[in-house]
Amino acid sequence: MTDRKRETLLARGQVPPVDRATIHAYEDATPGPFFYQRDAHPVGYEAERLLGHLDGGHALLFSSGAGATTALILALLEPGATVAVADGGYFGTFALMETELARWGVSVVAFDQTGEPPNAELVWLEPCANPMLTFPDLDAAVAEAHAAGAIVVVDNTVLSPVLLRPLEHGADFVLHSATKILAGHHDALLGAVICARAEDRERLAEFRTLSGIVAAPDAAWLLLRGIKTLALRVERQSATALELARRLAEHSTVRQVRYPGLGDPVAARYVSAFGPLLSFDVADGEEAARVENALELIENATSLGGVGSTLEARARWEPTRVPPGLLRLSVGLEDVEDLWADLARAVGG
Ligand code: PLP
Repeated sequence: MTDRKRETLLARGQVPPVDRATIHAYEDATPGPFFYQRDAHPVGYEAERLLGHLDGGHALLFSSGAGATTALILALLEPGATVAVADGGYFGTFALMETELARWGVSVVAFDQTGEPPNAELVWLEPCANPMLTFPDLDAAVAEAHAAGAIVVVDNTVLSPVLLRPLEHGADFVLHSATKILAGHHDALLGAVICARAEDRERLAEFRTLSGIVAAPDAAWLLLRGIKTLALRVERQSATALELARRLAEHSTVRQVRYPGLGDPVAARYVSAFGPLLSFDVADGEEAARVENALELIENATSLGGVGSTLEARARWEPTRVPPGLLRLSVGLEDVEDLWADLARAVGG
């Protein structure tokens, strides 16, 4: 069925119903586009249309960001393939490949994404890497990877298509943990892949149907609702994050602030604002735990990109990858002065 026909079938108002049906009856003994929910469903289809439009490609929803990562690797690569993953990015991506996917013949290497990617079948970049906040020279990295015959995936979870559209820089795939700023409210678990080429979407859709790594209609509906305010949230959260980063950088007990908005010349060539995520280092693990416990407004919780600010010591999850005193802060929509009052009191000094 063509997109046009699907769109006609989906003539809906601004607020689509949450259609939870796992089946839709055949018409004249012919299965329609939503004959079985594992294959496709109306709310997911609408969310995919919107995501495809935002990122300028062909989108597919998955049950989580990790599910989307699994699908990309298993559907696109063969046993024996090597994946080069940006060091300092989301630890779960590396862990998934190093443990579970390695058993199926995938090798993974970490590399410094501010330099040239190593030889690999697939290069995985993460601008504003979570939690080390490194930023690749996207055009150069894509050109080098392509020249060596590699596929390029950009995990754009932190910035969102409001700030960066990696397909316009030649990436083959964009991945989002849509759980984060796209849905935006800490109440929906979702992943998305946006493909530069329609045939790649078809391949991934086939894999998704067979593997069942499918987003639920309720989560897809929350994503549609979240995206309505995405641009406003990104703008405000980025502005507040920049202000807090500047103030933290001046603070006597803060050793280092990691935020590309504080003068990363490469990042400044690609984006005009730097997203909601920053990290800062205090003396050690003990001090980091003390700061976590001293916060009142900012929640001591994981994840990022939500309307409520969250902070945690990342050594809790990735002790061998980050300094023990590194605190990751995801800035929400609260008033900047309220957030600063909470932070300044917690870090002391
Ligand atoms: N990519 C990034 C940058 C993330 O931060 C996360 C989760 O924290 C993921 C991917 C995985 O997404 P999910 O938690 O939706 O499976």
